[in-house]
Amino acid sequence: QGSAEISIKDIDQLANNSFPLCMRHLFEKLREDHHLKHGGRMQLGLFLKGVGLKLEDALAFWKAEFSHKVGTERFDKEYAYGIRHNYGKEGKRTDYTPYSCQKIISSTPGVGDHHGCPYRHFSEDNLRAALSKMGVDGHIMDDIMQKVQTRHYQLACTLTFEAIHAISCDTGVNHPNQYFVESQKALE
Ligand code: SF4
Repeated sequence: QGSAEISIKDIDQLANNSFPLCMRHLFEKLREDHHLKHGGRMQLGLFLKGVGLKLEDALAFWKAEFSHKVGTERFDKEYAYGIRHNYGKEGKRTDYTPYSCQKIISSTPGVGDHHGCPYRHFSEDNLRAALSKMGVDGHIMDDIMQKVQTRHYQLACTLTFEAIHAISCDTGVNHPNQYFVESQKALE
């Protein structure tokens, strides 16, 4: 799942083209609120690391957003550590890996949290609205909602991938970073 490096200037376009819904949602909320709670910082931060955002760029990216909300000084004091930690530069120096779908689906986001899997954690109305923003409609929307109702969240995500990219995804979606890599391949 490791891949090429990505640069900050491409990140919005990559989010729009190739992020699965869980990461797209976190990314949009971060841009909107200039803040994410801990669970969101972990889920998106490790995903971006897996996608190829280097530590220095990750620090610059998060700092640019959080500074709007908390100022640069508080960012450096309270939030930079967590980012370096994700990259294995602090604490136990573990090189943390991005979360799998299974881990994300079984998380329990609370009020004000934006992490988790939208297929599992969004209300039906919010999920329909988010999917429609991604360009999903008609009978595909119904197929996806049916998978959600039977708790087949990864299959719902796979159907979304297939609809958006107009190709089949034989292995099915099991990891957000796999979704990203497959999407980039499909768009080549
Ligand atoms: Fe993200 Fe996986 Fe849920 Fe898709 S199925 S939205 S990749 S957690």
